[in-house]
Amino acid sequence: MKLSKTNYLVYRDCAHNAWMKVHRPDAYAAQPLSVFDQAIIETGNDVDVRARALFPGGVLIRRGDAAGTAELVAARTSVLYQPVFETERYTTACDILAWNDALQAYDLFEVKASTSGDDRRAKYDLYAHDIAFQALVLEACGVPLGRLHLVRLNGAYVSDGTLDIAQLFTREDFTERAGALFEAVRAEMDAAHDVISLAEMPPAPCACIYKGRSSQCTTFATINPGVPEYSVHDLTRIGASPKKLRALVDDGILDIREVPASFELTVPQRHQVEAVQRRQPYVDLAPLGAFLADIRYPVAFLDYETYPCALPRFARYSPFNHVPFQFSLHTVEAPGAAPVHREFLFTEKGCPDQPFVDALVAALPAEGSIIAWNKPFERGINAKLAERLPADAARLEAINARFIDLMDVFSEQMVVHPRFRGKTSIKWVLPALVPKLSYKALAIQEGATASETWNAIVTGELEPDQADEARRNLLAYCGLDSLAMVEIWRALIDIQAAREIREAG
Ligand code: SF4
Repeated sequence: MKLSKTNYLVYRDCAHNAWMKVHRPDAYAAQPLSVFDQAIIETGNDVDVRARALFPGGVLIRRGDAAGTAELVAARTSVLYQPVFETERYTTACDILAWNDALQAYDLFEVKASTSGDDRRAKYDLYAHDIAFQALVLEACGVPLGRLHLVRLNGAYVSDGTLDIAQLFTREDFTERAGALFEAVRAEMDAAHDVISLAEMPPAPCACIYKGRSSQCTTFATINPGVPEYSVHDLTRIGASPKKLRALVDDGILDIREVPASFELTVPQRHQVEAVQRRQPYVDLAPLGAFLADIRYPVAFLDYETYPCALPRFARYSPFNHVPFQFSLHTVEAPGAAPVHREFLFTEKGCPDQPFVDALVAALPAEGSIIAWNKPFERGINAKLAERLPADAARLEAINARFIDLMDVFSEQMVVHPRFRGKTSIKWVLPALVPKLSYKALAIQEGATASETWNAIVTGELEPDQADEARRNLLAYCGLDSLAMVEIWRALIDIQAAREIREAG
């Protein structure tokens, strides 16, 4: 059994998970890739292909063709795309190898669909290990190696409507950084190979039994079947209190309903446990009242849909800028008034920026609160629009000053419902507070699918009747996002009124 670079990198995160990936692919891939994850993979492939233009005229190697690669390397073919190398224990494919005459060796270029300027240490470390693995396999195959490079998208690049490949990518020399890791990576590769070669899974539980839910991978439930679906791992911010989680797990307390009243928790964690134990919502009346009192009529409930483009598609766009192609707006003019719906969807050829802003300004009331769910997203899109459309910057800044984030009610634990399960996404809050509204019957149920649907329309992937249906699906999805906020807000008003009456009585 050969260890691939991908499995080595999985092993570096978690040995258990690497074993599951190799031996239990059914469990590893039990949850099909989300549209979001698929889009990341496709984006990576697009960026790889574009980066080849930095080294034109290369030979593209067929997937898995180590023998063909060896022949081309022996012939000193000047540029190879996706060359494959194998030893008895290891296998890797590189993005680009380019012959360096001065060094009489091949330079290696690893292409990543991320932007330069993101210099977090963990990422640099990951890239260095990734490149070191490749270099060690190539060295074992007898390939003369020159410099080792990381190629990324240039975060500072601004398109003029075309793609200047030389400006679009940055090259960083990782030779010393990766070389310094060779000893350690060699040892890790041996250890990783030993783990994936085991016939039996390493003993359960896995290390995430002592970590919060957000650290756990998709195989957690398979490895740890005794942990209930809603467990102590779902306690809010429990990942930041590993001692507490360890104490609960070591005492055999896994079900969140079984956390004893005497166990020390933070106030939000205690509210979460009590909501489940009493099977009724917890309401923090004073902050909820203050939050609702801040909302001014006419109240505008606004939701955007966007498409994140790794490769800038329009003038004034940089890598990974989002294309705002749709909004839905429900406006409640006065207390008790029915919401009025306005919407915008751009599926023409060309850039939607200016039509989007014009439609937004025309649809929004001139004053009052603008409610969003996770307002940094909508405000961030407006800020980027203001950069690209300086003539509209003042109008967009004025809009940004009016936003209120409805999600704050839940992330700040003003209302805690047992059915939220510690989550604050609208997809969890809506069915708990407004069961009559649901995303379940919709063809599009989350934002990544909306993005990909829009892209399929504008890139001509769909037949005209399919495109019409896709537009209807987009309108239904985004429309429900803003309507859901209206109904959640109304439910909060009702909850507050009922609690006040109860407390007064
Ligand atoms: S849940 Fe955590 S420890 Fe368990 S296999 Fe996944 S990543 Fe590894």
